[in-house]
Amino acid sequence: MLPVKQAEALILSLVNPLSPAQDTEVLDLLSASQRILAAAVTSALDFPHWDNSAMDGYAVRFADVQSCKAEQLATLEIVEEIPAGYQPQQTIQSGQAARILTGAMMPAGADTVVMQERTQRQGDRVTILEAPEFQAFVRQRAAFYQAGTTLLHPGIQLNAPEIAVLAAAQCAQVSVYRRPRVAILSTGSELVAPDQPLQPGQIVDSNQYALAALVQQLGAEPLLLGVIPDEPEALKSAIAQAITTADVVLSSGGVSVGDYDYVDEILATLGAEIHIRAVAIKPGKPLTVATFAAPQARSVLYFGLPGNPVSALVTFWRFVQPALRKLSGLAQGWEPTFIKARTQQDLRSDGKRESYLWGHLQLLDGDYEFRLAGGSHSSGNLINLVQTNALAMLPVGQTAIAAGTEIFVMQVD
Ligand code: AMP
Ligand code: MG
Repeated sequence: MLPVKQAEALILSLVNPLSPAQDTEVLDLLSASQRILAAAVTSALDFPHWDNSAMDGYAVRFADVQSCKAEQLATLEIVEEIPAGYQPQQTIQSGQAARILTGAMMPAGADTVVMQERTQRQGDRVTILEAPEFQAFVRQRAAFYQAGTTLLHPGIQLNAPEIAVLAAAQCAQVSVYRRPRVAILSTGSELVAPDQPLQPGQIVDSNQYALAALVQQLGAEPLLLGVIPDEPEALKSAIAQAITTADVVLSSGGVSVGDYDYVDEILATLGAEIHIRAVAIKPGKPLTVATFAAPQARSVLYFGLPGNPVSALVTFWRFVQPALRKLSGLAQGWEPTFIKARTQQDLRSDGKRESYLWGHLQLLDGDYEFRLAGGSHSSGNLINLVQTNALAMLPVGQTAIAAGTEIFVMQVD
């Protein structure tokens, strides 16, 4: 059984990220929101585009006002009014000023802005009440960004700040990676779809929907292949179809050692290379990770997740999510976030595998606190997973942690 950290590293090493040459599309700005940028963006514009005023006030020549004091005030002639959006027509000469408003372009000849509150106006003249600092309240052209240098690096997610920058740089179209395609199938002859009548002994297929929701949250496209009975031929044709259409295939169930657990065997007959069969994690020990090489245009990563609903989710969060992030073109930040938090309850594990206990992480009086979900922590109990936003991690060898102790918890939302 592979330790969790080693499994994580091995899985990440198996991921071929989408290609910036082939796996991209050009989208308008709003459609690109939350997508991953595929090519560097540079702008032909400086930011600010020109020297401009950070205040409502008067644009002046510093030399005219630098020695201004109570007994020797400077009075200047106002030669122009410059609102934002207007291009100044005059060059400010000695003894002159321009009325200027926030964001407006500085006139030639002026180098300093005196805020309105430090002036007194009489008709077309303004008296400066106090000497400003040289270049006060002038935002210099290119102080924030120089035209031609890299504005946005590829591999970042385009959230509101990046969309704002793209809009301001007049990049109305942007090249992003396509969404990864993730085929999802549920294996098990006992499974029925949520909208089908439930016969005695049957189990409703919840994994398909939970996994699809997680895939969607990561910005990938789920392809739902339905429930496949535990029959080798049916399973083989479903997996064969899945690998022709998807970048990643997720199946749940059928990877344990039961009489009807066929997944590993079928992967082998389809020519997959199996890299992982079990990981020392609880819940989620039976976890199969395999790759299909060419003749597909690109290799396909296969995750055979355990069937128990909690195990399927925990292994997705711990192993599939980082892989999908890397695949999507994200340049960094693939691994889950672990936060130090104080557990409010005693935590237990058999100590044999790295254990993950679900619950709720919250900030209380400036400290992160973890509250263990009430009810049974059986991997078959999905009911008390509701409102889970974190998993407490107990390392191998740790069998008991007392309430009030600081632990690492993995964020899952
Ligand atoms: P398996 O790994 O196939 O033996 O499945 C382990 C347990 O998880 C069994 O009780 C299954 O009925 C249950 N299970 C398997 N697949 C699903 C699914 N898609 N949705 C809900 N429960 C499932
Ligand atoms: Mg099964």
